[in-house]
Amino acid sequence: MKLLVTGGAGYIGGVVAAQLLDAGHEVVVLDDLSTGHADSVPEGARLVRGTLREAAFDVLDGGNFDAVLHFAARSLVGESVEKPGLYWDSNLGESLALLDAMRRAGVDRIVFSSTAATYGEPESTPILETDPTRPTNPYGATKLAIDTALAEYARLHGIGGVSLRYFNVAGALLDGRRVQGERHTVETHLIPNVLKVALGERESVKVFGEDYPTPDGTCVRDYIHVVDLGAAHLLALDACEPGVHQIFNLGNGNGFSVREVIEVCREVTGHPIPAEPHPRRPGDPAVLVASSEKIRSQLGWKPERDLRAMVADAWEFARRAR
Ligand code: UDP
Repeated sequence: MKLLVTGGAGYIGGVVAAQLLDAGHEVVVLDDLSTGHADSVPEGARLVRGTLREAAFDVLDGGNFDAVLHFAARSLVGESVEKPGLYWDSNLGESLALLDAMRRAGVDRIVFSSTAATYGEPESTPILETDPTRPTNPYGATKLAIDTALAEYARLHGIGGVSLRYFNVAGALLDGRRVQGERHTVETHLIPNVLKVALGERESVKVFGEDYPTPDGTCVRDYIHVVDLGAAHLLALDACEPGVHQIFNLGNGNGFSVREVIEVCREVTGHPIPAEPHPRRPGDPAVLVASSEKIRSQLGWKPERDLRAMVADAWEFARRAR
């Protein structure tokens, strides 16, 4: 298939673009490089630099594309709380421009990077796709709005859309000549921050909140390896059905606390990794764990890599990237 990958210069978009190329697809990446890196675009993909508003239609029109994988987004919860307008304009505005360009160019399949943040504070665990969506920050709200737009474009314009609601993505692609991983300028995520301590770049890791109603008092999350996440995108592409919008959670279905994650990082790196208690980070739900039954039963997806594999691959990538 010929595929447009928006945000293919970012962490997840870059990994999935590489997997798509290896599966034999033709890949064009559209990315404005506002947070991505040109050298994260995998070899074999063509990079078009620009925003979706500027460039989506020009790229898609007459290009004979079969589908779009839409990763491009602003994705920092804290920043979204400080600058909601930026998130609405960028995430929703750019996505609507993309959908409009797809309609005009006659491209009718899209796989979209949605998020567990669309659910907000869950009423029960694990989270089902049918559970209420009450995002607690603008990031989650903008992603939910895009899911809603996709449902409408499916119903009213015949688009086939699949929203994949990611839980906590970690790990790296280390596959022969393909090496792709997390390189955020501003790093907020737990595993890369813990590994920075093992690399000697920081003295200790901050543990945001030890008084949550969880077994060890720290937040529990569902971690998924980026390579397993990418495999789900290939299945989702095949599952796109004109006129239908589908939503699937994408997590392993297991919860690990912040303390447990740090412990696995100590075991993998052999470094003591001092951890310091800090106040809770605003907007963090205590427990976010996916039910991944729907994607397992309907698309036949099965995660193959556990938390230790995620940490080991992230560690290997971090050491190589130094
Ligand atoms: N966290 C932490 N220290 C850090 C980064 C994150 O204690 O340096 C905690 C954070 O409060 C949350 C969990 O680790 O409970 C996962 O956070 P992350 O930012 O990786 O993902 P999120 O769940 O927010 O998408």
